[in-house]
Amino acid sequence: MTNKPRPFILAETNWKSVKEIQYDVAILPWGATEAHNYHMPYATDNYQVDHIAYHSAEAAWNQGAKVLVLPTIPFGVNTGQLDIPFCMNMNPSTQLAILKDVCDVLVRHKVGKLVILNGHGANNFVSIIRELAGLFPDLFVSVVNWFQSAPKHDIFEQAGDHADEMETSVMLHLAPELLLPLAEAGDGATKKFTPKGYNEGWAWTQRPWTKITKDTGSGDPSLGTAEKGKIFLDRCIEHISTFYVEIAGKSIDNLLK
Ligand SMILES: [Zn+2]
Repeated sequence: MTNKPRPFILAETNWKSVKEIQYDVAILPWGATEAHNYHMPYATDNYQVDHIAYHSAEAAWNQGAKVLVLPTIPFGVNTGQLDIPFCMNMNPSTQLAILKDVCDVLVRHKVGKLVILNGHGANNFVSIIRELAGLFPDLFVSVVNWFQSAPKHDIFEQAGDHADEMETSVMLHLAPELLLPLAEAGDGATKKFTPKGYNEGWAWTQRPWTKITKDTGSGDPSLGTAEKGKIFLDRCIEHISTFYVEIAGKSIDNLLK
């Protein structure tokens, strides 16, 4: 929290400021509330996506982009973790219903673009965006998966995709007081499907989470450090803020060549 309300964060700003600004890009951070191995908080995805949202919007705002961060949606798709206590599943159809209402507000107030800033791997907005395109032809809707927005293989040694070295590093940077000691984390080992198609990416099915991992993690968190987390976050913020600057104030025709 800063001393003054930031005009690019709706939750902080006020109508006196808002009524003077024609925002062009609304940013809707979308997280999840779910178990993250033994050592990290349930709202890990929300802490991460909030940080990315605020800092990437600030950098874009300082370059003249009229961006507005909406309050974060804290629940994500957890249909593969229904048997893990308090994984707060929100179905894709509910996400569509929420987005229809958000888009309606944005169109009424002549916001041209919506970027869903996604912070949870099982949130998949592609088919939802296709449906929204038919309902809101004047709104340009995109999704950004922040965790895929910058290279990470030169930072992190262990691959993973949930509560792994990357997420542990990011949280050690953002909120170390909320993490248990790494000695209390599980190893994040996972079972993989054996049919070749799943591993080559041309077949897909949902992973039954409690059958593939004992500790709810996917990826070994043991080499996580705050320094690695900061390097990765800063890279992602730079890429995402540049993306906002690239799309802000432009018509779709001006985004093509
Ligand atoms: Zn996560």
